[in-house]
Amino acid sequence: MSKSFSNPDGTRLSVLKDVCCEIDKGEVISIIGPSGTGKSTLLRAINMLEPPSGGEIWVDGENITSKGYPLHRLRRKMGMVFQGFNLFEHMTVLQNITYAPVRLLHIPEDQARQEAMELLKKVGLSQKASVYPDSLSGGQKQRVAIARSLAMHPEVILFDEPTSALDPTMVGEVLSVIRQLAKDGLTMLIVTHEMRFARDVSTRIFFMNEGIIYEDGSPRQIFEHPVHSATKAFVNRIQKLVYVIDSDEFDYLQIHTGLNQFCLKYNLSALAPAAYDIVKEMLFVHLRGIRPLTLRMTYAELSGETALDFMVEGFTRSPLPDESALGGIRSRVKDIVEEPTTRGFRIKVKLA
Ligand code: ADP
Ligand code: MG
Repeated sequence: MSKSFSNPDGTRLSVLKDVCCEIDKGEVISIIGPSGTGKSTLLRAINMLEPPSGGEIWVDGENITSKGYPLHRLRRKMGMVFQGFNLFEHMTVLQNITYAPVRLLHIPEDQARQEAMELLKKVGLSQKASVYPDSLSGGQKQRVAIARSLAMHPEVILFDEPTSALDPTMVGEVLSVIRQLAKDGLTMLIVTHEMRFARDVSTRIFFMNEGIIYEDGSPRQIFEHPVHSATKAFVNRIQKLVYVIDSDEFDYLQIHTGLNQFCLKYNLSALAPAAYDIVKEMLFVHLRGIRPLTLRMTYAELSGETALDFMVEGFTRSPLPDESALGGIRSRVKDIVEEPTTRGFRIKVKLA
């Protein structure tokens, strides 16, 4: 299957080049890959929001891309949950959930309400049936959106980055609902940037790159033994925060704020207090006057390894007066590694 769009100058932008895959009932597939590689376009093609430009899609033995195929039949089989929730703001939570089953499936109101209440219980929101979406947090809205999708009894649900618009503190509550659906055996395709979630929840991973499914395999294959170097580089990505401190007049508050945001973004809040303390102690006590100094916080998304690096150029041995200086820190962290690098010396404090 392929998909291209028209450019304003009349040329074509080929977004999905030749995507070919077969998905069985009950599979949970996470689609990962750099942005702009066609992940959303693939989901939108699969549910015919953006019909493919070439090739065919078959669902349950029917060619849904054939002329005259009744799309309402597909809409009943396949639900979609978006990054931005797309709830009806003028309807209560309950009405959001019962609307489509009553209108499209002709389920009696009473029964639809009863089912909606069960679904709200499933996503942990029984108390919220009669409120309007604008009083809910992002995580709650997304759980309502999932309940609404489930109310149509779909055979498949497509999720397009369901947690990307959420505050870090709410990511977990949405992922745990999706985890439960996976356990229940629902067939799902999930575009996500949450690598550890993808690894834990999926039966299969698609790594998309440049408009094709570049690598397709079990979580183990993709995350531990990827065949292609692009896959390996992507799954082993390390997030970094870097500050260069070149005098004693540096802005500590700015560094503190930066560390705080980094920890929030990658769900490392449990490590944040230790990170603040250690950075402060290193910059103001142990490494005082040792400038310029590069401070780096790193987080490997897949392994969860988190570290603070203190790097000084031109040193061939540790800039610390003596080994015992770090004793107090050592007892609070996973490990400390002191080693020369090509340009100087690095003290790596492993937090997790
Ligand atoms: P991803 O979800 O992997 O980040 P998308 O599927 O959203 O990627 O987009 C892939 C490419 O297709 C991008 O270059 C994007 O600009 C382009 N694209 C997506 N939808 C449209 C559209 N409706 N019209 C034109 N170009 C589009
Ligand atoms: Mg996308």
